[in-house]
Amino acid sequence: MAKVETTMDKLVSLCKRRGFIFQSSDIYGGLSAVYDYGPLGVELKNNIKKFWWRWMVQTRDNIVGLDAAILMAPRVWEASGHVEGFTDPLVDCKKCKHRFRADLLENLKACPDCGGELTESRQFNLMFKTFVGPVEDSASVVYLRPETAQGIYVNFPNVVDSTRVKIPFGIAQIGKAFRNEITTENFIFRTREFEQMEMQFFVKPGSDKEWFERWKQDRINYYKTLQIRPDKVRFHQHGPDELAHYAADAFDIQYEFPFGWKELEGIHNRTNFDLNRHKEFSGKELTYYDDESKEKFVPFIIETSAGADRTVMAVLSDAYEEQQLENDSRTVMHFAPEIAPIKAGIFPLVKKEGLPEIAYKIRDELKPHYPVFYDEGGAVGRRYRRQDEIGTPFCITIDFQTKEDETVTIRERDAMTQERVKINNVRSWLFEHIDNRVKFNTL
Ligand code: ATP
Repeated sequence: MAKVETTMDKLVSLCKRRGFIFQSSDIYGGLSAVYDYGPLGVELKNNIKKFWWRWMVQTRDNIVGLDAAILMAPRVWEASGHVEGFTDPLVDCKKCKHRFRADLLENLKACPDCGGELTESRQFNLMFKTFVGPVEDSASVVYLRPETAQGIYVNFPNVVDSTRVKIPFGIAQIGKAFRNEITTENFIFRTREFEQMEMQFFVKPGSDKEWFERWKQDRINYYKTLQIRPDKVRFHQHGPDELAHYAADAFDIQYEFPFGWKELEGIHNRTNFDLNRHKEFSGKELTYYDDESKEKFVPFIIETSAGADRTVMAVLSDAYEEQQLENDSRTVMHFAPEIAPIKAGIFPLVKKEGLPEIAYKIRDELKPHYPVFYDEGGAVGRRYRRQDEIGTPFCITIDFQTKEDETVTIRERDAMTQERVKINNVRSWLFEHIDNRVKFNTL
């Protein structure tokens, strides 16, 4: 049966009802385009970040991690071009006062909301400014970083000098970024505070095109492994008018959200633009000396830049399904087991005859290793439905047979099949089906 596509209303309502995502400062009426992750949402997002880190850093020899600070020397943003050029064209409606990004409007003559007259477009810098120290003057201005990439570039010499990495190699980091977006839209898709998962791969000039292709392929494989439906993911190559000033080539990985095909991740050939600029602005040597060829060069950089929150949005849209069963219906989130917030529900069939005691024991044994949820309330079918709706991949039921042969049933969320497993083997069974499911590739 073909999956009926979900709507944003259904996702937003499920996220609030089950504690995935809330509007920031809700009791004060909310702060526009800022969101908080609730008890299940924080698990989902952390698991996505962990999965990305495992894929990009821990399973490879040629990528190392970094966690740079959000605040950086203001010169960084002059060198990167953000102070001068990180702007969007802004227009206001003179009648209803709504604001728009001029480049996203089809008709610059009339307001899309009320038909009123629009102002001339003016450039608006997206960086949030603040001050260090007690005096609010121009000498103390700092910015909340609008991307995590620059923290990696300025640490390039530190990483080369303190580790044994040799080109080609990458530096990866996950962290918050801030953009004072003019128009915000579609729940957590475009927000003012968000997280990026970025990897900058340093290569010898001339090998950049080949590495660009390799990273494109690797990143598509990543989304497949995350169990995003392949027909929902595609490449979009930037045309000459879309290319950023620093990029020789750029592809977006787009996902088909309920509101259309939109960017999930950017893959860019940034050439040696950034390192050259930091060399010029800092006066520091950012060239690399290759021991083997005895050559000195400023490396080219291939960047893969994904949004953690956008990935959450894609995963939620992709996973949601309402199914009509024979005598019942269910809402199910088909999360990959690695990223599901809760890995297993633990249910005693009834609340008596020693079954809860066995269930507690299993729960206590699994808890240090996996987030599990004990539930003894209501019919087992209803308990399954509650776990289906939050994407729990497995449910372990303790029944009367358990007392006889020390086995439990493990029910799989998507196919709803059940298997009897010895209590002693439950933990290794989960390990096989969660931690060991993915075979990681390395470039
Ligand atoms: P867009 O065109 O959607 O504004 P961008 O091309 O400016 O995005 P990049 O600067 O390439 O985005 O940032 C890399 C990634 O960071 C994006 O693919 C996206 O996943 C994420 N990202 C960028 N801006 C936002 C935002 N305002 N909210 C959430 N995620 C964002």
